[in-house]
Amino acid sequence: MKQLKLFKEEEEEIKKLYEKHKSIITGSHFVYTPKDGRWFHGYDYVSKELLGRTSEVGNRVAEIIATHYFMAALRIDTVTGPELGIFFFIPLIRDYLTDLYKEDIISVPCEKKDKNYPNAPFYFKGIYEPDIRGKRVLVVEDVLTSGGSAKRVVEAVKVLDGQVVGLAALCNRGRVTAEAVGGVPIFSLLDVEMEMFPEEECPICKEKGPDSVRTDLGKGAEWLRMKAVK
Ligand SMILES: [Zn+2]
Repeated sequence: MKQLKLFKEEEEEIKKLYEKHKSIITGSHFVYTPKDGRWFHGYDYVSKELLGRTSEVGNRVAEIIATHYFMAALRIDTVTGPELGIFFFIPLIRDYLTDLYKEDIISVPCEKKDKNYPNAPFYFKGIYEPDIRGKRVLVVEDVLTSGGSAKRVVEAVKVLDGQVVGLAALCNRGRVTAEAVGGVPIFSLLDVEMEMFPEEECPICKEKGPDSVRTDLGKGAEWLRMKAVK
């Protein structure tokens, strides 16, 4: 299976696009929600919720993903992904693929068996099984943190003897590897480190001063107020 990679100029474009929609920002100075009464800082901010709302992001992301699989000559019959998260993108990716391959490509949701249980397995509704069985399937996920959901979608495809062509992700923020998602090559549009430092050890505070924390996103404003009171 082929390992796909973005072109340098696409990397820059994606970064700017995500940042513009205040969804995924790298290389800045953020304060995170405190854990056990302790504050943590870091360079990156990921909030995937706002990512899929606009046509600008949706179309460009879909176009880039579809074009790379097409250029790599990887044939795709069906596009799927864990419902909800990737719900905005999958039909768009399907449409770009249909345009490029000049063939009808299908998109179907992969659903969680038990919504009350976070690690529940995923499955395809019976009516969608023919779209997966024996087909070449592209799995798409929004943000990979542990890769757990993506892996369970890959497993649901394999249960029906579908062939997973690849896993495309809008962002990989957990250094998730192919092994972690069932041995499928990951095509990530943005890799984010998501390192967290206890406030007193923050290298960004040391370099740029505590006042350089972002107050528009994350908990920076709250943290500065709390420090002023002390
Ligand atoms: Zn800091």
